[in-house]
Amino acid sequence: MYTDIRRLYGVGSARAAAYARLGVYTVEDLLCHYPRGYEDRGSVRLLSECEGDGKSALILTVATEPKSARIRGRMSMLKFRACDDSGICEITFFNQDYLRAVFTPGTSFRFYGRVEKKGNRYAMTAPAYEPWREDGTLPSLVSVYPLTEGLSQKQIAKDMRAALVIANSKGEGEDPLPDTIRRKYGLCLQAFALRNIHAPDSFEALAAAKKRLIFEEFFTFALGLSAASAQNARTAAVPCPVGDVSPLEDQLSYTLTGAQRRVIDEIRRDMAKDTAMSRLVVGDVGCGKTVCAAAAMLIAVQSGRQAALMAPTEILARQHYGELRSLFEPMGISCELLVGATAAAEKKRIRAGLAAEDPDKRVSVVVGTQALLSEGVSFAASGLVVTDEQHRFGVNQRAILSEKNQFSHLLVMSATPIPRSLALALYGDLDISTIDEMPPGRQRVDTFVVDESYRRRLDEFIRKQVAEGGQVYIVCPAVEESEEEQADLSLGEIGEEGVLRKQAPLKSAVGYARELTERFPALSVAFLHGKMKSKEKDEIMRNFAAGQIEVLVSTTVIEVGVNVPNACLMIVENADRFGLSQLHQLRGRVGRGNRKSYCVLVSAAAEGASNARNRLNVMKTCYDGYSIAEKDLEMRGPGDFLRTNGDTSIRQSGGIKFRLAELCEDTGLFRAAFAEAKALVAEDPELKQYPLLAARVNAMFTREAGTMN
Ligand code: ADP
Ligand code: MG
Repeated sequence: MYTDIRRLYGVGSARAAAYARLGVYTVEDLLCHYPRGYEDRGSVRLLSECEGDGKSALILTVATEPKSARIRGRMSMLKFRACDDSGICEITFFNQDYLRAVFTPGTSFRFYGRVEKKGNRYAMTAPAYEPWREDGTLPSLVSVYPLTEGLSQKQIAKDMRAALVIANSKGEGEDPLPDTIRRKYGLCLQAFALRNIHAPDSFEALAAAKKRLIFEEFFTFALGLSAASAQNARTAAVPCPVGDVSPLEDQLSYTLTGAQRRVIDEIRRDMAKDTAMSRLVVGDVGCGKTVCAAAAMLIAVQSGRQAALMAPTEILARQHYGELRSLFEPMGISCELLVGATAAAEKKRIRAGLAAEDPDKRVSVVVGTQALLSEGVSFAASGLVVTDEQHRFGVNQRAILSEKNQFSHLLVMSATPIPRSLALALYGDLDISTIDEMPPGRQRVDTFVVDESYRRRLDEFIRKQVAEGGQVYIVCPAVEESEEEQADLSLGEIGEEGVLRKQAPLKSAVGYARELTERFPALSVAFLHGKMKSKEKDEIMRNFAAGQIEVLVSTTVIEVGVNVPNACLMIVENADRFGLSQLHQLRGRVGRGNRKSYCVLVSAAAEGASNARNRLNVMKTCYDGYSIAEKDLEMRGPGDFLRTNGDTSIRQSGGIKFRLAELCEDTGLFRAAFAEAKALVAEDPELKQYPLLAARVNAMFTREAGTMN
């Protein structure tokens, strides 16, 4: 069914290795390596019309014989002139003397690149070029692919053409989408979609291709979820009927809210039954979901069972562990932490404790990351599994975890509020408990949306907050400097009118922290990102919590749960890059103590009126996570909720990776895909009549599981 990438002519082991770095192993994978953007080479301009920093397409005729010259040792430079009706342009290439034979005087080419204007002369350096053909067969939209070392755009384009020939040779019968569904939603055939996502005939064809491929992604995802929930449907579980949470309440320094009590009651009733609980707890950031999980864990332990809690990141796992241990140990309940960084001997001890048949030697409560899923971890008397989903749909993990924990109850905690329509689609197999009440005494975090012109005032504000003893978070979307460039041409930025929208450069946490250290020599600045070793991350978080670090520059790793009550200012750079729910979650990191707290969203989009600005403005007036989530869904579509963000630690733990659907703004398409998937699974739960679809579902869910670490 799959064709090894090396079957393509010209792809040897070296190029295959480069492709492997992109996660591309087969011809089918290659076809799913979608462009990150398109160059509009169809809108041809005259030299005199080129201005600004953007790239232009021009048709120029070579006017002079190319001349090459040696420069600096081994380097060589090839120069010639080419012209159109409006002017003359000097074109330069480096180390490509063989091009002398290509650019013969009198021949015309379509060049694409940046035109520099020096006085009334023009110049281009190493532009892209294609021999000009007047018959209209030169493509107007040229794909730009994500690259890796050892691969060039040209090579990928060439291999893609070969892969498309293979794809096109497949008949209509080989389209994985059932015909009826395809027709119902006006979706094009797969072969057409693949051809046009890679080599679009027109903007219309590209839009049709995207629609079809996005639907297919949603549909595949929805099928996987529906199939999983069909399997999970009400399995048997060991009942946990004792359920007295008063010892836990005695440990707390506060009293439970009415909403927390109600949710704990729902959990208690579920767990007393001999069918497995499958419950999702949703609630705004800071509403106190953790203690509900703790109550569920206590109920399991009271019936002689074990409870496991799995968090998406190590930082979060450690924090949950700290909190839970301080609650459970005074009750004489053993509590352990199992993460990737746990020492081998320690892991062995914990694994033995989890598997111990003797209840006196058994570990009752374990908190961890996906390390809990690794082989060798087994539970002697599992009773409850809690997952902290961070709405990242760790569907595979959930499946593996429940396999390891047969006959246990399942509790899922969502990190951020999810609009109800989405929750029903994504968690249709779960009963939903809502915590709709905040603990008393929470302060409101005043929120501002500003552009670069406020930078100086913002710097002053940072100094002032620190001088008064407060601490500051600065969140940047990108991790490394190389990612800044990567990010400026993404598939999503092609607007209706087909124009690539230019975006403000992304601030990288690493580079920015360095810059700030220089700008604020008197302050202690540190940075934190997901690619750091967990020991380093921990140390920085500890130092920040202890007040030794005053300004913490970070990627969204701090989005998840960390609690530093002294932090009173949250600055988010390139704020338009984040979903509103994510911003709400970030804002929840401040205002946790007594200090008056602020959140400043910095965005180039803050000037003028724009969609992005309107979106950000929602944050100024809206402080309720649910309304924010609903607005986000309305304004950006479901893609935003599926987006895995730039931080690898989160991406790795997150489960499914979407290729195009993250960009989808069409809620209707999303709903349709889920409705159709549900209907199809009801009719044919194992997709026996749809082997192509079954294979897709498998690829989406298992490939991701395989790449987890
Ligand atoms: P989330 O729902 O975002 O996971 P947490 O469970 O982390 O929220 O709770 C946030 C904070 O609120 C914690 O410091 C917790 O101790 C505190 N908290 C939880 N419930 C209450 C309550 N009923 N009264 C006061 N504080 C509470
Ligand atoms: Mg939480």
